[in-house]
Amino acid sequence: MAINRDYRCSTQVEQALTNNPYTIDPDSGLVESARQCSSPNQDQRPAGTKFDLVVLHGISLPPGKFGGPEIEQLFTNKLDWDGHPYFNEIRGTEVSTHILIRRDGEAVQFVPFGKRAWHAGESCFRGQLACNDFSVGIELEGQDDLAYDDRQYQTLTAVLGALITAYPELSARRIAAHSDISPGRKTDPGPAFDWLRLYDGLSHELSQDKSDPQ
Ligand SMILES: [Zn+2]
Repeated sequence: MAINRDYRCSTQVEQALTNNPYTIDPDSGLVESARQCSSPNQDQRPAGTKFDLVVLHGISLPPGKFGGPEIEQLFTNKLDWDGHPYFNEIRGTEVSTHILIRRDGEAVQFVPFGKRAWHAGESCFRGQLACNDFSVGIELEGQDDLAYDDRQYQTLTAVLGALITAYPELSARRIAAHSDISPGRKTDPGPAFDWLRLYDGLSHELSQDKSDPQ
């Protein structure tokens, strides 16, 4: 689907005038309106590395359960590994993401975009290894075979629109599933994720940004 990218010429003033509540300050790498929940599982991106990929994930903890505190506890190294039999399988894991979008559409930010979040693990995108180095991670609370919530698509579209506006290296053409970059090892966000819906929404979001900066 063709996405008009000329909106990149928009100034920050124009960006601030859009109705997107998830506007991003490119310098701080923080999303306005996202709840901040800093993760210790972050570090510097390799020197000189620009991030030009978004990786979409799905996660629920324990698997199939939504709405609890466990995902945020996992990303902040506060999960009680003995709290559920499944947690024993991931005991000691130190992971994070830049953004988590909960079922109700709430966006939670764990890592500023300029820093490296630990979400992709062993991975490869178009021949380039170690995708954490050059990607933004977005986790959707969900599971592979259950439809994601309408409110999640709304938030995801707005956050992606804000990301693409804030960082010129990102584009609608460089959004990958975790399953794309870690095939055989990861399956998320799964067949339930509606890519056409995402691209339709993103196309609309970006064309609005360009044509109607009121
Ligand atoms: Zn994943």
